[in-house]
Amino acid sequence: MSFIELVDLKKSYGQHEVLKGISLNVKKHQVVTLIGPSGCGKSTLLRCLNALEIIDGGQIKIAGDVVSGPGVNVNLLRRKVGMVFQSFNLFPNMTVIENIALGPLKLLGMHREEAVADAHALLKRVNLDHRANYYPDQLSGGQQQRVAIVRAIAMKPEAVLLDEITSALDPELVAEVLNIVRDLAQDGMTMMLATHEMHFAKEVSDLVVFLEQGRLLEQGPPEQIFGNPIESRTREFLKQIVEAGRL
Ligand code: ADP
Ligand code: MG
Repeated sequence: MSFIELVDLKKSYGQHEVLKGISLNVKKHQVVTLIGPSGCGKSTLLRCLNALEIIDGGQIKIAGDVVSGPGVNVNLLRRKVGMVFQSFNLFPNMTVIENIALGPLKLLGMHREEAVADAHALLKRVNLDHRANYYPDQLSGGQQQRVAIVRAIAMKPEAVLLDEITSALDPELVAEVLNIVRDLAQDGMTMMLATHEMHFAKEVSDLVVFLEQGRLLEQGPPEQIFGNPIESRTREFLKQIVEAGRL
């Protein structure tokens, strides 16, 4: 049974149809990677899934419940499905520990002691507990992104969406962030990620989805998509990636 189900999802900005009817199923514990040229709709798809965009057609279901359209409880949805962004989006005026504990305190109704203890435990797992009382601008980009992932996990979500989370990082900081994603995958976290890190996508994904101009052109296990893609557009895209030295 699918945990996340997109049914003919459509999204336009003005006259520009950015998602032209995307249907996709993600099972519990699956890692699904969205690849495709810049502008093909990866971020828009993830943002629709987190109710950051209002969709124009189709449906989104989580665990069988429709979570798109009028009357949907956006807070409940975001509690079930966390999101991490390219630009970290930490609250600059709060320390690391406050950033992480805020959601559990406000939205899960946790007691302060428990929320703070949880946050410290999670920070230990990513080797950042010694930075608990720092402010985001006192951390490297890689450290900020690790905190952003911890903040999402602290809400005990059932799935996490990751949008190009290493794209804003200096190359030497990418690995420390990807290691956390790898650990989450091993723990069985359901994830959907958009990424340009093709090696990583190949290694960590159960399913790779190739989007082009708002359409889902091809999907399959990484061996198929990277090794023997069916669609000529997928092959062209991957050829460019290989030529750029990124696969
Ligand atoms: P990707 O993440 O695959 O690079 P996006 O989902 O960011 O692609 O963008 C898909 C298309 O939608 C692009 O043509 C982009 O310019 C357009 N787009 C994205 N966000 C907006 C917005 N807020 N307003 C208007 N157009 C947008
Ligand atoms: Mg994007």
